[in-house]
Order: sequence, then structure tokens, then C-alpha cells
Amino acid sequence: MATLALGSAERPLRVAVIGSGPSAFYAVEALFKTANLACRVDMFDRLPTPYGLVRGGVAPDHQKIKSVVKVYEKIAADSRLRFFGNVMLGRDIQMEDLDAHYDHVVFAHGNEGERGLGIPGEDLAGVHSATEFVGWYNGHPDFADRVFDLANAERVVVVGNGNVAMDVTRVLLRDPDELAPTDISEAALEVLRASKVREVVLLGRRGAAQAAFSPKEIEEIAKLKGVEVIVAAADQQPDPVSAAWLADAAPRSAQRNAEFLAECPSEPVDATARRASCVFRASPVELHGEGGRVTRVRVQRNELYADADGTPRPRGTDEHFEVEAQLVFKAVGYRGVPIPGVPFCENRGVVPNQEGRVREAPGGAVLPGRYVVGWAKRGPTGLIGNNSPDSKATIAHLVEDLAGATAAELAAEDAERMPALLRERGIDFVDLDDWNAYDGWERSEGERLGKVRRKLTDIAAIVATMKELRGGDR
Ligand code: NAP
Repeated sequence: MATLALGSAERPLRVAVIGSGPSAFYAVEALFKTANLACRVDMFDRLPTPYGLVRGGVAPDHQKIKSVVKVYEKIAADSRLRFFGNVMLGRDIQMEDLDAHYDHVVFAHGNEGERGLGIPGEDLAGVHSATEFVGWYNGHPDFADRVFDLANAERVVVVGNGNVAMDVTRVLLRDPDELAPTDISEAALEVLRASKVREVVLLGRRGAAQAAFSPKEIEEIAKLKGVEVIVAAADQQPDPVSAAWLADAAPRSAQRNAEFLAECPSEPVDATARRASCVFRASPVELHGEGGRVTRVRVQRNELYADADGTPRPRGTDEHFEVEAQLVFKAVGYRGVPIPGVPFCENRGVVPNQEGRVREAPGGAVLPGRYVVGWAKRGPTGLIGNNSPDSKATIAHLVEDLAGATAAELAAEDAERMPALLRERGIDFVDLDDWNAYDGWERSEGERLGKVRRKLTDIAAIVATMKELRGGDR
């Protein structure tokens, strides 16, 4: 059999991409835009729907952010890309299958787990991860059956000061009528309509200046109808460590957050308003409950010290206080989940890599033909747009590594082998035509109900609807 240059018109490079969120699409875009590279890409997702956290993570009242999918739709329309939805690596297909069918694999499966607090009481009823809540209100099939007892909660504690904490707080406090026209899950909207939540207490382990949320996110909460942001008087002015940091190394966003929070009232102005109460330098140390349900959070007051780089870090003091709460959400970050056959760094919860080239283990040798992008590469940080340069950088390495590579000529039927293999295994996969038909259905159902789209939240129901929409077309 003839040997041909890999990535040439005679022998296109064949790439499997695992995941279909932003980092996956930016990787595909980078491959398609590489000059003189002929390639074909098969994208796999365990869900029958694409777009990862844009669909299942970005809050429904942030439709402008969700509109980034228009960029991905253009990439998906390229005939060099195929989508295999409802196919899970490690369950339906294995690494050996990918090795047998593709030259390269790009992992873009994100971080689907969450970090915990590691404190007593975390398993009490009423204690949830933000990941579950976010997935639930976004109609993510993994979380459709979760129960959040908002009808019996007046105060909710949210632990963490990132943008996920902002999303959770905003969705809890926003007038449900404003959420109704979005793509929020119908079940979630109903529960939010019956919510008795009056106050969200946001616990940040460091100071106001070190809050990880974007200034416009906290400012948006303060602008919500009938909502006040309250900042404890003790946290309005920066402590000496933060003041030094703000004067020297802090990013502009830290200055803006500190300035904004310093101007918020320290006591409620309107007794009838719902409240986001920010408490800084505060770490939960124990969750107490009655009858198995959380009722109180024991909090330790922290002080800040500067580490070797001058970055303010928290340190517990002897001071403690308690906050009564009927629900607790942990919004302290996502974490990767291992996939069978894919290297995993237990410590960081990512695929070990050297600038996107996958290593066999942390610090170990680079595995040829394996690449990683997005949160699976660098951990759960950054906004959607940060994934574009990140994916481009990994793909640039993939292209560099291709120099001079050759491969055996493919048989004509090779390109079609994956659908046949999936069918042989009885895997109910869906493709881009299925998704496009279903996407249209979600939108028209939404239009009928006066909302952006109506999501089904059950995988079997989504696949069945796709099949029905395509008729005997498949
Ligand atoms: P994040 O930005 O990393 O924030 C995590 C927060 O949890 C930080 O305040 C962190 O404090 C705190 N934390 C971590 N461990 C803790 C512990 N043991 N006890 C108390 N607090 C703890 O993560 P995220 O909010 O999950 O967001 C993930 C990424 O998605 C971020 O880049 C975020 O900007 C992005 N995102 C963006 C949007 C948007 O643009 N609208 C929406 C959602 C998410 P320290 O700073 O002290 O570590």
C-alpha cells in the first residue's frame, strides 16, 4: 500500500475531537484554517446536543453570551466536520476504536465534576453544588431530576466569589417573569416562581478586592429590580495587605470591584428588597442541620497575608460566627472527571499536558497524536473567548508535529467506518442533521410558548424527537 504525506489532499489527516463545547469548535476552526492541511474531523459528544457549557452552563438570562453559538454553527456547516452525538468515550467507544479510525485525537471534554469544600455537613440535604443548580436551570439532562427546595428557603448561602456564584445568585434573586422568555428549563422556572428566597449570603474567603467575579457581573446584580447588594461595613475598605496589592499588582478588575463594593450600603436600604449580602474574609468550616437538612453555616473569619509573590491569601483567625440558611450552594470551581484510557492528573483534575500535547502522566513523556484543549487542558478558568487562542495554540503544535509525517493510503470506505461501527454496536448516535432539525423544533416550540427555545431535558426524549423529526430519513 502506498505511503502518502499525512494531511495532503491524497491522504487527509483524520482527527477525532472529544467534546463539542467552545474549545472543541475553536480547535476545529483552527484545523480548517490551517493552510495546506487537508483534514476531516469527527466530533463526539456524550449528549445528543452540541455546545457544551454554552448550552448547559451559561445562564439563561445571558442570551447575548449564548449567541456565540452562531460562530460554531458556521464551523459545523463545513462538510469536513461530522458530529456524533449521544456517543460517550469510555462507554460506547474506547480509545482503541479512536486509534483504529483516526490519526489524531483532540480532547475537549472540559471539566464535568466539581470541587468540594471538605468540611463536615457537606452531605446534608439542602447542600448542593452550583454545577447541579446551573445544569438544572439550563435543562441539562444530567441534572433534570434534582430537587431544590426553594419554596422553603428564605436565606441561601453561596460559597465562592466567582462568576458561577454570580450566576446562581442572580438566578435566585431575579424576578422569574424576566427568566420566563429565556431558554430556562420549564421545571426550574416553576420552582423559581414558588421560591421564598429573600437573601443570598455570598461568602468570599478573601477580601472584596480579590473576588474572582467580573465587575459587570456584581454590578448587574445590583441593578436587578427589587434587589440590593449589601457589603458588611468591615469589608468596605481594603485591609492593609489588599491596599498594598491594589496599589501595586492587582488587575484593573480588582480595583473596579473594590471601588464598587465600597460604595454599596452596609445595611438594607429598602426592607422589602431581596438582598445579595457579601461577606468577605469568611470561610465555612462546618454545616449544621436538623433532621438531616442544613440549617446553619459555621463560618471562620479570615485575615489576609501576602504570599511570596505578594498575592493576598486567606488565613483563619479565632473569630467564628454563624449564618442561618436553608440552602447552601458550593460555587468553588469545576474539576475534571477521568475518562478510561485517557491520562488524568488527579491533583489538578486535568489531562496532563505540555502546552496541549498530552503526556502519559503528569511530568511524563508526551504521547504522539494526542492533544488537549480548553478546561481539560488548563483547568476551569477563563471566559468562553479565552478558549480560542488556547485551542489555536494546541492545534499549532499538532501541525508542527505533522511535519514530514506519512501514512498508509486509506481504502475508499475508510471514511465511513465510524457510523458503521456505531450501528454494529447498537449505539443510537445522532448527527448534525438530527441536531439541526431538533434545534429548529426547540426554537419553534419556544416561539409557541413565548420563549427563546423549549429544551427537552431527557436524553431518550431528545433522541426520539430527533428521529421523529427526521422521519425515515436516517
Ligand atoms: P472561579 O472563577 O475560579 O471562582 C471560584 C471561587 O471559589 C473563587 O472566589 C475562589 O476563591 C473560591 N474558592 C475556591 N475554593 C474555595 C474554598 N475551599 N472555600 C471558599 N472559597 C473557595 O470559578 P467559577 O466561578 O466556577 O468560574 C469558572 C470560570 O468560568 C471562570 O473563569 C469564570 O469567569 C467563568 N464564568 C464566566 C461567566 C460569565 O462570564 N458570565 C459565568 C460563569 C463562569 P479564591 O479566589 O480565594 O481561590
